[in-house]
Amino acid sequence: MALTGIEIFKLLAKTNCKECDFPTCLAFAMALASGKTELDKCPYVSDEVREKLAEASAPPIRPVKIAMKEAVKTVGGETVMFRHEKTFFNPTLIAGLLTTAMSDAEVDGKIATFNKLQFERVGLNLRPEMLVVKEVNGDAGRFAALAKKVADQSDAAILLCSEKPEAVKGAAEAVKDRKPVLGVATAANADAMGALAKEMGLPLVTKAEGYDALADLTTKLTGMGLKDLIIDSGSRTLKQAFQDQVVLRRAALVPKFRPFGFPTIACPCEMTDDPLKEALYAAVFIAKYGGIVVLSDLQPHTVFPLLLERLNIYTDPQRPMIITPGIYEINNPGPDSIVAVTTNFALTYFIVSGEFEGSKVPTWLLIQDTEGLSVMTSWAAGKFSGETVAMHVKKCGIMDKAKTRTIIIPGYAAGISGDLEEELPGWKVVIGPREASHIPVFLKKL
Ligand code: SF4
Repeated sequence: MALTGIEIFKLLAKTNCKECDFPTCLAFAMALASGKTELDKCPYVSDEVREKLAEASAPPIRPVKIAMKEAVKTVGGETVMFRHEKTFFNPTLIAGLLTTAMSDAEVDGKIATFNKLQFERVGLNLRPEMLVVKEVNGDAGRFAALAKKVADQSDAAILLCSEKPEAVKGAAEAVKDRKPVLGVATAANADAMGALAKEMGLPLVTKAEGYDALADLTTKLTGMGLKDLIIDSGSRTLKQAFQDQVVLRRAALVPKFRPFGFPTIACPCEMTDDPLKEALYAAVFIAKYGGIVVLSDLQPHTVFPLLLERLNIYTDPQRPMIITPGIYEINNPGPDSIVAVTTNFALTYFIVSGEFEGSKVPTWLLIQDTEGLSVMTSWAAGKFSGETVAMHVKKCGIMDKAKTRTIIIPGYAAGISGDLEEELPGWKVVIGPREASHIPVFLKKL
């Protein structure tokens, strides 16, 4: 049972030393009770008290580590229903499905496609992370061989999927170095699957239909000493599966119902035969609240928009994506190259710099600190004005690098040109295009 803030407060040192970044022990206790901070932030908690507070300080949804070949991802660990309340922390893993009924050629093709699905966006590498290996025809040998092939030919996180504990054991042994996720534990096989997951120290997918059955199953498995569970509610219609995701998240967060305090898996791959509908269903579960979303086929035209959706959902709404202000060299500029300026909103930078790069024109691109605001917003907020741009030009060191005394400003900030010319005597201000996509043509005419 979770403790209240006052109950936690009684166990703290009560020195109000502020080392936890809270003004008082009471404030820290209240934040801890609502899952907004971690017990480790207070260095004065004894082991005895730590044990007592373990329950209260545990995140309402357990973060579960999932191993890729050379990286570790986390699912779960969320603390809010809506991202604007705080943020969502651990992005949904996007998974593709391989089954033992597929031919070798089909499997090879899907693994090759998985390996190619990598996209650069705002300086990040966006990609699916997981392959689900599913046993569908009782062939345990092929199941293990398929898992091994995935481990050998990709860096994917691996989820082994069968309700036969012996088959799962064989496949898990074959890829044990890759620390696969095991599945699927049901009421019928919970003892054997639980024992296997515990023995191998691996996360376990648990599946039961109906909230009571699900709570019974996770309670049984945690009673066996398992901690890293992933919940499959078993529903395979959009409406019911969506409802399950919301119910599980709310029950885990609000009354802190521990049996549902685990990340979830959603399976659009088993909800429809229509690939586009499946992608739309996946989009629903990325928004609410799938820890893992499994697609029957990973294709660029469906995966890319899902990756972008995920990027947006899991970007902290309180912290704009920014890049470091400074001088960025594009296409090897020299002293006579042109100078342009824009804001440090990451999306603006990557789009604008991409257009300059594509134009092949050597450019000094000045990035001004606007606290991550875009051109129009920062201009409206007074953070991208004649005065601030001039100050940046004077301080950033461009005058030592470039002999040019012409600066291109974004078309949306045309209103600052007069002020900027006043603030930068000897400089000519040229108003660039409003849309980044018009930059190459603009540069040609220039
Ligand atoms: Fe209290 Fe510990 Fe925070 Fe100090 S660090 S104020 S003792 S909770």
